Amino acid sequence: MKFCSQCGKPVDQRIPEGDNRLRYVCGHCDTIHYQNPNIVAGCLPVWQGKVLLCRRAIEPRLGYWTLPAGFMENGETLQQAACRETDEEACARVSNLELYTLFDLPHISQVHVFFRAELADLDFAVGPESLEVQLFDESAIPWSELAFPTVGHTLKYFFADRVQQHFPVRNEYLPPLRRS
Ligand code: ZN
Repeated sequence: MKFCSQCGKPVDQRIPEGDNRLRYVCGHCDTIHYQNPNIVAGCLPVWQGKVLLCRRAIEPRLGYWTLPAGFMENGETLQQAACRETDEEACARVSNLELYTLFDLPHISQVHVFFRAELADLDFAVGPESLEVQLFDESAIPWSELAFPTVGHTLKYFFADRVQQHFPVRNEYLPPLRRS
């Protein structure tokens, strides 16, 4: 951040009184600009044992497969965010959302949350942020072409848990990934 979003003057980085972290602070209007993690919410839509994946039409990870997910907006609930993203990316309607995986990604200041969900019908389609939208059997999942580690972890948990028909909620810390 270079300029204050309140008054437009340049900001400095300093530790405000009573705080213990560096913050962007406006020396003109005294606004402290706190920066906090972003939440990415998504669905794992299931239809007769198959899961719905989208191939990304946008960066990052263009051309790679993902579960429908995206940044939560102000004024919506987690489930609303997950449903909206599923509609935007796959033109798909889901129901019976169940909280499933939460990933802490402190190195990029994000939290990723996925819900298991029932795909309501087969009337899905390619949304503007997708190149393809497709249902996959476990055996056909493009494991080496998944867009994000949190998608791969969620799918692995799902197929493992499905054997027992028991789907505990998982909260996991994911360290930075080194890509070769
Ligand atoms: Zn200011």
